[in-house]
Amino acid sequence: MGKINNVTRDYLQGGNALGKYRCYYCEHATDSVHQISFFQGKQDRDELLCDDCYADWIESLKSEP
Ligand SMILES: [Zn+2]
Repeated sequence: MGKINNVTRDYLQGGNALGKYRCYYCEHATDSVHQISFFQGKQDRDELLCDDCYADWIESLKSEP
């Protein structure tokens, strides 16, 4: 989990120097975000999730067949 977080932060720092991000799901402002990609309809979307929502998202992936 820590490795993924480091890669995500490095990627994000190019686009936002403030170090403050907003979670796509709960809209909580956080310094620690994770970028996810998911399909919505026919489009592949990239969104940011906070630690808690990211953990939930990972759990939801595991529960899928
Ligand atoms: Zn969240």
